[in-house]
This record gives sequence, structure tokens and C-alpha cells, in this order.
Amino acid sequence: AAKTNRNSVFSIYRPEMNKNQEEALLIEHHLRKAIEQNELELYYQPKLDLNTKQINGVEALLRWNNYLLGNVPPDKFIPIAEDTGLIIKLDEWVLEKACQQNKEWNDAGFSNPIKMAVNISPLHFRLSHFEDVVKRILDKTGLEPSLLEIEITENSFIDNHEECIACLTKLKDIGISVAIDDFGKGYSSLNYLRKFPINSLKIDRTFIQEVSENNEDIAIVKAITHLARELNLKVVAEGIETKEVIRILEELGCDEIQGYYISKPLPKKRFEESYEQMNYCSDFQ
Ligand code: C2E
Ligand code: MG
Ligand code: MG
Ligand code: MG
Repeated sequence: AAKTNRNSVFSIYRPEMNKNQEEALLIEHHLRKAIEQNELELYYQPKLDLNTKQINGVEALLRWNNYLLGNVPPDKFIPIAEDTGLIIKLDEWVLEKACQQNKEWNDAGFSNPIKMAVNISPLHFRLSHFEDVVKRILDKTGLEPSLLEIEITENSFIDNHEECIACLTKLKDIGISVAIDDFGKGYSSLNYLRKFPINSLKIDRTFIQEVSENNEDIAIVKAITHLARELNLKVVAEGIETKEVIRILEELGCDEIQGYYISKPLPKKRFEESYEQMNYCSDFQ
């Protein structure tokens, strides 16, 4: 029954459903209309180049404010969007909006070029010719491919190896960068690092957050940094909340950092207002 009448959320409630299922259905119901009802917004979180101490990129992070549900965090609605296939439309919306925004920013001439990173669900590699979607959006927005980066989690590679390699290779040929997000958190083997055309590893924040107090975390971050260097990959750390962590990452040779210490994700206006200041945020130089 749940499949036949997706538009009416009320008709699919059943007494035996638990709270989580009810909530998921409610979220799905409202998420279906989120784009047309203009409820989505992108926030932008900067990435800082540790060599130049300049902002050289941003990550687009989706925010959803529904008139009934209020602000629903991505960790709650993204998994539901993936289960229901809605993620395909959402990610395409994000991709287009983010490319458009970055075209505008780079044309306006910030002090250095900004690379825009967009999170892409692994489902895209299974359901569509994702590279065609990307090409169409780059064409439409006029953004240079070198100013776009795709972030995917390593778990993306587990079930659809061949398709995934084919797609990533095409993206690389166009000139887009690919980063492995949440690196170290998943269960996939390191084998894929040899086969996949990727540009950078983004170390999961669970390894970063206590790296200044925890020897195991230092060991892991050090190992990932070495691995990345040997494989000619850039290494990025996310979840930086303190100055001490930045010092350690600099010492280990990490290339880029991202986290609340530099800036939280910000809406367009606030990002523009604080960009120059973030660039010269020099208290850790
Ligand atoms: P992610 O791609 O790993 O993004 C990083 C998350 O960590 C973001 O949460 C960000 O706000 C948060 N974060 C950044 N710096 C810090 C820090 O210093 N400390 C802490 N505690 N957290 C920090 P957010 O925005 O809630 O997004 C959660 C996840 O939802 C993202 O993880 C990503 O996997 C997914 N997501 C967000 N937007 C999109 C999207 O447009 N498409 C897809 N497919 N997934 C998205
Ligand atoms: Mg990400
Ligand atoms: Mg991450
Ligand atoms: Mg994530």
C-alpha cells in the first residue's frame, strides 16, 4: 500500500508503524514538495589551504526548512531521500545551484579562485548517466569544470565498481575533481584507491576532533596523510574545532582544512560578508 499512494501520506499510516517509520513518511511527504515550495537553501563552508592560508574552496551543504517540520538536518532527511530515490532530484538541484553560485563568485573576482564541492549520493552512479547531468549543468551555468569538485563516500564503491570507475573517469576527463568524503569511516578496502580516478582524501572528522588528545587518532591521521602523499592525492581534514588540531595537521603535512574553527557553514550573504576576513584570519599562522 505504501508504494501505490505516495502522494497522500495519511493514507499509508498504519497502527503498527513505529515512530521512526511515521516520521520517515512525514519527511518523505514534505520533501517531495520541497523544491517547488522553495524550502531548500544552500549553506557554504569554506576550506582553507594550509600552505597559502587562503580560502580556496567551499562545500555546499543542503538546508531544508519546512513550514510544518521546521529545520530538518541533512543527517535526517538525506538517508530518507536516498531510500526513496528523491535524492536524485535533490542532488541535481544542489549541483545546479552550487555551480551557478560559484560562477557568480568567480566572475565577481574574490581574491583567489574558489572551488565548489558538492556532495553526491552513490545512487547517481547506479541510476543515471551522472556525467551527462554534470555536463549539462556546467554548460547551462558556464562554470569552469576545474572549479567543481564532487565529494562521494567510499561506500559508494562497494556495489557498483565498474559503473563507478567509468563515470569517475569521464568526470576526470572533463576536468572535475573527485574527493573521497568521510575517509576511514566506511568498510571498503583500500584496493579502490589504486583503481579509482580520485584527487583527494577527506579524513573523517571522528579521527580529527580529538587528534590533539588521542594517540591512536594521531597515528591514524599520520598514516592516512602518508598514504595520500605516496598515492599523489591531496589530503583534507574536516571537523577542525581548535587551534591545536590545526598545528598537528600542519605538522603532518595536511593540505586543506575545514571546520567550525575556520567557519561554520554559512548562507550566501554571510559567506560573502566574511570571506575576506576569513582569508586573513591569521591567528594560527
Ligand atoms: P559531510 O559531507 O561529511 O559534511 C560535513 C558535515 O559536518 C556538515 O554537516 C557540516 O556542517 C559538519 N561540520 C563541518 N565542520 C564541523 C566541525 O568543525 N564540527 C562538527 N561537529 N561538524 C562540522 P551537515 O551540513 O549537517 O551535513 C551532514 C551530511 O549530510 C554531510 O556530511 C553529507 O554527507 C550530507 N549532505 C549535506 N548536503 C548534502 C547534499 O546536498 N547532497 C547529499 N547527497 N548529501 C548531503
Ligand atoms: Mg562532504
Ligand atoms: Mg564528511
Ligand atoms: Mg557525510
